[in-house]
Amino acid sequence: MTLTQRLTGHLKNPALFFDLASVPHLSATSGAGRFAVHNPSTGELLAELPDMETADVAVAIDRADAARACWAGLTARERSDALWQWHQLILEHSDDLAAILTAEMGKPLAEAKSEIAHAAAYLQWYAEEANRIYGETISAPSKDRRMLVIKQPIGVVGAITPWNFPASMVARKISPALAAGCTVVLKPAEQTPLVAGAMFALARLAGFPDGVLNLVYASEGDGVGRELCANPKVRKISFTGSTEVGRLLMRQCSGQIKKVSFELGGNAPFIVFDDADVDAAVEGAIQAKFRNAGQTCVSANRLYVHSSVHDVFAEKFAELVQALRVGDGFEADVAIGPLIDIHALRKIEAHVSDAVLKGATIRCGGNRIGQSGTFFEPTVITGVISTMQIAQEETFGPLAPIIRFDDPDEVVRAANDTIYGLAAYFYASNLKRVWRVAEALEYGMVGINTGRMSSEAAPFGGLKQSGIGREGSRHGLEDYLEMKYLCMGGL
Ligand code: NAP
Repeated sequence: MTLTQRLTGHLKNPALFFDLASVPHLSATSGAGRFAVHNPSTGELLAELPDMETADVAVAIDRADAARACWAGLTARERSDALWQWHQLILEHSDDLAAILTAEMGKPLAEAKSEIAHAAAYLQWYAEEANRIYGETISAPSKDRRMLVIKQPIGVVGAITPWNFPASMVARKISPALAAGCTVVLKPAEQTPLVAGAMFALARLAGFPDGVLNLVYASEGDGVGRELCANPKVRKISFTGSTEVGRLLMRQCSGQIKKVSFELGGNAPFIVFDDADVDAAVEGAIQAKFRNAGQTCVSANRLYVHSSVHDVFAEKFAELVQALRVGDGFEADVAIGPLIDIHALRKIEAHVSDAVLKGATIRCGGNRIGQSGTFFEPTVITGVISTMQIAQEETFGPLAPIIRFDDPDEVVRAANDTIYGLAAYFYASNLKRVWRVAEALEYGMVGINTGRMSSEAAPFGGLKQSGIGREGSRHGLEDYLEMKYLCMGGL
């Protein structure tokens, strides 16, 4: 693989990451083709990677399968030590990892640094959790029996990650899998494979045995996905990405009743009730909407604001949004980077023109910046109604639609009126209301008087068509463990 001068110029220790192709699992590649990785801010070529084929994926799966017994056979403490070691190396090289992330994904460097810290936090959490895998004993109904449950690793895990959090998604999947004693084949998104490659290079230094971690680079996810789902050696698929691809993977896994964990799309409501602290709500909405340029599955997608506070909220919010600086993530004080590609830009443009056509008002922004590149002005739209595309679909960009409401019961019904159920937010101060609304919202995660809730200590995941299973917390470990009931008789 070649890393270009542009990328290595950002690194303190380029030699460590320069030749990612020398990572052992990649020597399996047939090397038929290559694909290019570009910087979305500048369009510059960053690297060219081997475009692995189905046969290469099968080799990676074989390696993971061969390493399975050895890795599962280590003590929990030994697995924990390797995860700690990896965690330390990631912290040590966090500046370089953040630079790689900003270069290939575009997010501001400060956000990239915080993502690397978040990725490291998952490794730390599961290094600790590895030591806390417990079974149970059951009171047997007869005296001559003993009954118990032990937990065992599922086996080889196929993991597929998206481009919007290319480091933390990798850590969030791999660390519980490794802690549980599973081995992994990972395919990162085509747009952002470099930070995953760099993390794997550090894993190699951390001393994971050969075959425990395997990386597959590919320009298209479908061939890799088919092999991971069809190969009987893979016992579980863990996927983060769109609901559409989640449905496809579920169908492909049905032949072997393969276990799945899915973190899929969202359409998060953000409700500001009449008893909310408006300033806090404005600040929370900025965080929940504009982090990562709105390219976040838990991004506030529909802002419902009570009539009595609507105007003051809209004014203060638009003022702050207008001040968000857009640009190359490496520039100082940039808050909003580019969108990942031209398709993302076209989607946001389509949402804006549909809303305007149906009577909405642009309070700020509304346009792409420049003719080349994928920068879009942070945008606030008011006068939004439920029939507009922005009220129904995930925008995945820096566009905040504000919907006025009067009836507090009706707004909860509207918030739940979606196939998605990932994250919801609301601001209120009345305690009775806080509990009633928190319980009524049909979402896997609810932020109450906060616009930010991701944490390695909490179970991340969705209801309805937003996913299956949870990542993070002690629950995230359970997704990689099988329960085995042992019954001993004749005692
Ligand atoms: P995507 O198109 O579903 O891609 C995600 C990953 O799946 C990429 O690695 C992609 O690889 C791969 N992929 C694509 N088609 C595939 C197929 N047929 N079989 C197997 N793998 C395939 O999603 P995206 O557009 O990159 O990401 C945005 C979506 O992800 C949004 O809906 C967002 O809400 C969701 N998301 C959810 C969470 C969560 O935790 N719930 C977190 C982040 C994002 P290639 O790119 O190489 O094709």
